[in-house]
Amino acid sequence: MSKNILVVAAHADDEILGCGGTMAKHADAGDDVAVIFLTNGVGSRGAGEEDSQNVELRDCSAQKALGIVGARSLTRLELPDNAMDSVSRLEIIQALEPYIKSFQPETIYTHHGGDLNIDHRRVLEAVLTACRPQPGSFLSQIYSFEVASSTAWQGSSLSSAFSPNHYIDISQQLDRKLTALEAYSEEMRDFPHARSIKALEVQAKFRGAQVGLEAAEAFVLERSIG
Ligand SMILES: [Zn+2]
Repeated sequence: MSKNILVVAAHADDEILGCGGTMAKHADAGDDVAVIFLTNGVGSRGAGEEDSQNVELRDCSAQKALGIVGARSLTRLELPDNAMDSVSRLEIIQALEPYIKSFQPETIYTHHGGDLNIDHRRVLEAVLTACRPQPGSFLSQIYSFEVASSTAWQGSSLSSAFSPNHYIDISQQLDRKLTALEAYSEEMRDFPHARSIKALEVQAKFRGAQVGLEAAEAFVLERSIG
């Protein structure tokens, strides 16, 4: 039976970095895979023409990347990029809640709470709060993913390390994940940067080899009901 799968990402590109292969795998299985982006991924440093062009470019890259993995965008909100700690938690939750309620996901993939990026940490808190377990709830699982150049860059004493307990075999979807990352060429860097295509291929193979697979994406199960 087809499932509703929701990815909640702070910035366009986080969804592919964290779970692009898993999204493609769900789409291959006939699931409805949707993404909510909470910021425009660019910010409004000067709110000038260059910024709006960059926002347009980022939105365009996102559409392309999502098309490659068989997903769609549910919405892109306008919370402040790299400054989600400047708005109240309530505001983030209230922005997110209506979309979660109407889409009724069975599974949510989102950020890990130990990331260096403040937006990523706020997103997990908001998802957990917006999805407080209620009688008759539609949601079974919340998983957090790792984002290269944020999850591994947090100071060791500042938060809990990303310690995966759930692996998804993406051997058949890795090529599509890497192609989708190429759609975000503006965000990609040259190897050996953590956010380079080659490093991300190595990461998928490393996560796979940890559990005897050709390639995998790794997750932390934040909550499971049922
Ligand atoms: Zn991000």
